[in-house]
Amino acid sequence: MQIENALARPFSRWDVAHGRGESAYGYFARLVANEGHSSLRVYANEIGINGRNLVPEEMLAAIRRLPLSVKTISDLERWTPIRDGSLYRIGAETARLKQMSMTTRRWCRSCLREARHHRVWWDFTAYRTCPTHCEALVGRTVRGGMVRWHWPHFDVGPDGMDLAVGAEPGSSAVPIGLERFIEGRLTGDVGLPLSDVPLNHVLDAVDTLGTFLEDDGFVALTMPQDDLRDRLAERIRDTVPEEKRRRGVHGSLGHLVDGSGGEEPGSLRPWLERQFLEAFAEVGRIGRKRFSHAGIERRDFTLAEAATELGVNKKGLSRFAKRLSIGHTPWKDAHSFSREDVEALRAKVADLITLRETIPITGIPGHEFRFLERAGYIDSHSGLR
Ligand SMILES: [Zn+2]
Repeated sequence: MQIENALARPFSRWDVAHGRGESAYGYFARLVANEGHSSLRVYANEIGINGRNLVPEEMLAAIRRLPLSVKTISDLERWTPIRDGSLYRIGAETARLKQMSMTTRRWCRSCLREARHHRVWWDFTAYRTCPTHCEALVGRTVRGGMVRWHWPHFDVGPDGMDLAVGAEPGSSAVPIGLERFIEGRLTGDVGLPLSDVPLNHVLDAVDTLGTFLEDDGFVALTMPQDDLRDRLAERIRDTVPEEKRRRGVHGSLGHLVDGSGGEEPGSLRPWLERQFLEAFAEVGRIGRKRFSHAGIERRDFTLAEAATELGVNKKGLSRFAKRLSIGHTPWKDAHSFSREDVEALRAKVADLITLRETIPITGIPGHEFRFLERAGYIDSHSGLR
């Protein structure tokens, strides 16, 4: 019975054109509707997969059993969040489990009016306004009927109301930078800011800044660093009483500066903490020396400071450190290095030999090394001096 289930095609028809940004569960839902069924939950249960909660990889696996084109399958793979430990992977992007939600459906009414299918970016909890139509996403029909994922239709809701009714393009005036960014990441736009930072870390930083400032966290994250510090300093002054600020940064900012959460590669946390600390220095009466007692000296080298310390060129060092994956946050000019990082870089720089030194040291002229480099035996680094 089980084997028969696994071998059988889960749908009798699959003449449904896959839509841009459509995840496997969105497509699965439309296949269910295409069969004339009105419950994704019941249908999924009947073919032996979890119908209570969406398990995207199960739906993807079921769809893979259909004779669809290679392109359709690869598009579905690209736009389906697949669980990997504490993250979802969506194509080349990553999100924390809590950064996405697939319990109820949310949609942009104008987008649905244009094409009746789900877009995976709607499932990011931070994605609230459609950047194409400047209107807020909704989760209910105009009559107030909630639409859960067991409902497989994208034309009407369970109450019979057209899901596109009530569309109001241009009705929202809130910033849409973050939504544009999320969508851009998922669709592979080039030229986006923060291109070196994993999406889940961007969303973390946006959340931290947004909560602290009670304002748009993405706008804050992408503004020039000096402006951000001013904003933070202003906010600290407005929300933390002077008496408290006098007593110390930890009592004033708590978990924001406790050194946690920066261990994951690509995390913006160390950089963010530094912004908070430097902002605090403007409004709290604590000298920089006191800061270092709080353990900040561990990562207290900016790129410029590290370059001066090592006697090398800043830009060259930036590339060099990035290639060796030493230091934190290779983003903007905001590299930061711990004392150990700087020492590691010092040792690496000392190991390098210049082109002119190749003959006295190895007896081989510099240009011969190009062959070794191309073969992957050695690395060359330029612009350090
Ligand atoms: Zn839209």
